[in-house]
Amino acid sequence: MKMPENDTITAIITPIGEGGIAVIRLSGPDSISIACAVFRGKVDLREEKSHTVHFGRITGADGAVIDEVLVTIFRSPHSYTTEDVVEISCHGSVFIARKILDLLVGSGARLAGPGEFTRRAFLNGRIDLSQAEAVADLIRADSAPSHNLALAQLRGSLSVKVSQMRTKVLDICSMIELELDFSEEGLEFVGREKLINDLETLRDEISQLIESYEHGKIQREGLRIVLAGSPNVGKSSILNSLIQEDRAIVSEISGTTRDTIEESVVIDGTRFNIIDTAGLRETHDALEVEGIKRTREQINHADIILLIIDSMVGTHIREDIDLVGSYLGDRSHKEIIIIFNKSDLVQENQTLEMGKKYSAYRTVLTSTKTPSGMNELKKLIGMISLRGKGRPDGESIMISNMRQRNTLQNAANSLDFAIQGVKNGVSADLLSVDLRGALSYFSEVVGVDISEEVLNNIFLRFCIGK
Ligand code: GDP
Repeated sequence: MKMPENDTITAIITPIGEGGIAVIRLSGPDSISIACAVFRGKVDLREEKSHTVHFGRITGADGAVIDEVLVTIFRSPHSYTTEDVVEISCHGSVFIARKILDLLVGSGARLAGPGEFTRRAFLNGRIDLSQAEAVADLIRADSAPSHNLALAQLRGSLSVKVSQMRTKVLDICSMIELELDFSEEGLEFVGREKLINDLETLRDEISQLIESYEHGKIQREGLRIVLAGSPNVGKSSILNSLIQEDRAIVSEISGTTRDTIEESVVIDGTRFNIIDTAGLRETHDALEVEGIKRTREQINHADIILLIIDSMVGTHIREDIDLVGSYLGDRSHKEIIIIFNKSDLVQENQTLEMGKKYSAYRTVLTSTKTPSGMNELKKLIGMISLRGKGRPDGESIMISNMRQRNTLQNAANSLDFAIQGVKNGVSADLLSVDLRGALSYFSEVVGVDISEEVLNNIFLRFCIGK
């Protein structure tokens, strides 16, 4: 999808639906003249200064008034896209907004593709690629941490960091390439000890950024909590108690939760995606076999697993723990909480005994009926979510998407090759190849020399109008 980059584009930039106002944006060299073609007001928009607002009417080809509007002018380069931009605020009716959009297209504008305004802001150098990506994140942000993360990135914190690292590699690279010019003399402009030191420091900085991805992911997408256990142990009831809503179907027939149900809650600013799964154990029922396959996948992708046991039944506990363990594969760092549910149905000392038996794990006794243990469970989940990964202090720079993460990983690999090369005493020309590799990956993060295909993929994530 190659789009021309010098025509004038238009889109409704507010959500489609009824509202106080709707806004239609034009961006490109003919924005102001196209707006003039449909706008009737006291002023000639072509004569007006940037950042001014004008009242008037939008009229159709037959002169019929469509709506009374406010038109805002942003003159190049002081606009979102750096091009001439006009924003028409009309009454918030889908009919009116579409009618105005039609008129603008009839007057020579082209309908904008997804993210095309932001794409132009990037192509015109107003923001770099990581900032463009942050725009998409910012629009989607629905909790305080994801909002903070997107905002920090939009302000360019990642860009600055990556540019600094890029400059350091460039400096090293220049020195190494200088050695190439003097290869006859066998001169070394950079001491190899220091070189290794510098490269390793850089490598550590990249590692920190890569690690921040995991945390960024939690901030943006939330923690994945998977409920696992035999049918009828109370998985759906626990899900309901956690989200305090009757969304999951609670039923007394074994194995009713055939498919996975996902719910999302924000507790203390962290988003938790809670996934209720079908049963754990082998079965001959085709639908349940499929359900179990999904359970296995969900457990594999979980941050926290709640293994729920029916305290009344109390059998298969060891088996269930082993099964969950086997589904985890080699990712045994995942947190399992064993929940002895239906504690109201058994003597207190019985459940306590059970808890003791599995004291190697985190255990909670719950009842969704009384309800007891639910607060303890919530606290435990909160504690695990804070542990290990450590909340960023708000100042630390984080990366927020897979593309950035993978590109930085490639840069890290190139540096690893370079470090290994120096240690093995390889020649300057080979070192320069690896360092150049790292440089190009740094450039890719911020979008210098990026391919059309990568760009298209990134901007397809956007909605129309952004
Ligand atoms: P799932 O199949 O694991 O999702 O189990 P459900 O949540 O559908 O619960 C199965 C049955 O156990 C339902 O009748 C629930 O009302 C009941 N149940 C769930 N939790 C408790 C509990 O803590 N105490 C008691 N007495 N019954 C419970």
